[in-house]
Amino acid sequence: MSMKSVTVVGAGVIGLSIAWRAARSGWAVRIADPAIGRGASHVAGGMLAPLSEGWPGEDGPLEFGAESLRRWPTFVSDLGADGLITARGALTVAFDAADAEDLRTVAEFVTARGHEMEIVSRRDVKSLEPAVSHNVRLGLLAPAELAVDNRRVVAALMTAAVSAGVDLTEDRVDDVSALGSDQVVLAAGWATARLCPSVPVRPVKGEILRLRARSGSPAGPTRTVRASVNGRSVYLVPRVDGLVVGATQYEHGDDTTVTVGGVRDLLADAERVFPGVADYEFSEAAAGLRPMSPDNVPLIGRVDARTVVATGHGRNGMLLAPLTADAVLAELDGSALPEATSASLERFSS
Ligand SMILES: Cc1cc2nc3c(=O)[nH]c(=O)nc-3n(C[C@H](O)[C@H](O)[C@H](O)COP(=O)(O)OP(=O)(O)OC[C@H]3O[C@@H](n4cnc5c(N)ncnc54)[C@H](O)[C@@H]3O)c2cc1C
Repeated sequence: MSMKSVTVVGAGVIGLSIAWRAARSGWAVRIADPAIGRGASHVAGGMLAPLSEGWPGEDGPLEFGAESLRRWPTFVSDLGADGLITARGALTVAFDAADAEDLRTVAEFVTARGHEMEIVSRRDVKSLEPAVSHNVRLGLLAPAELAVDNRRVVAALMTAAVSAGVDLTEDRVDDVSALGSDQVVLAAGWATARLCPSVPVRPVKGEILRLRARSGSPAGPTRTVRASVNGRSVYLVPRVDGLVVGATQYEHGDDTTVTVGGVRDLLADAERVFPGVADYEFSEAAAGLRPMSPDNVPLIGRVDARTVVATGHGRNGMLLAPLTADAVLAELDGSALPEATSASLERFSS
């Protein structure tokens, strides 16, 4: 019996995860992407943070994200690569009374749904993360959250995909109907809407910095640290050689220029959280396009007998890759994964 074939369009974290898993399940897999691994997945911060981003009323993103976070340890061990996880635990800090109130709101919402989160005093923030500013009033700890080095994850996925037999090609796909395979998976990030206009995904730009510790630089935080500064959210994500600082958010179509104002705000906000950052080397500023869905839950499902869509991962595509791959594999096998029901495309079809 010959193997069934699938073409995966797009080789970001989503397409690569699907291709790797499909090849391991016996599919003959080809990936088509003129810029393999160089989309949003290359610029991401790498936080796996469904709990810290919890907010009352947003049960869908919380539960989908928490389910995918649970799958990450197995995903990492199946990949078999070292150094993917760069931090364990995330700490959100508040500088004023209104922000402290928001932390209590998040903690109440998230713990009521059975997830572990803990309010920590100003003094405990200092002992957990001595690098953090002493102006902090309160903290919120999510012990189960992780951070990964997104670029190492993409590289590990490419290696694992190739060794599982995936054919990585640098072809751009403009006409899905011209593809010769039995099945097609559209995982082209925000550009999936160009290939399949009924999919309600749009680009949301984000700028992000990479800062490297110099010899003698003050030690940075060991957990992901998040805060709101002047109404803007900022996060510092540990890397083996420094920190990633993100991220701005604008609706500017497919523009990926890095602006002076974006870099200025990120640096000022990062320094408010971690004063020692000024000593670091400024190594990179980049911008990427998040594939945003209307309700911040991904868009995963079958659009016709041959085509499955996997996009709309917005701010959380690294986090959501393991659950998405499992959901798409189920679709390819003609079934549906119950844990991924909230991502079904049917919620937007009238
Ligand atoms: C600044 C920033 C920070 C972020 N931080 C985090 C974070 O901390 N944690 C987290 O979980 N997520 C984060 N994200 C979100 C995450 O990066 C995305 O959700 C994720 O990368 C989406 O993966 P993807 O594979 O769908 O898209 P992409 O990585 O964009 O990949 C899509 C691929 O499709 C290809 N493609 C497009 N059109 C075609 C075509 N016609 N033919 C063939 N190929 C095509 C592109 O070349 C590209 O390689 C962040 C995003 C940004 C911008």
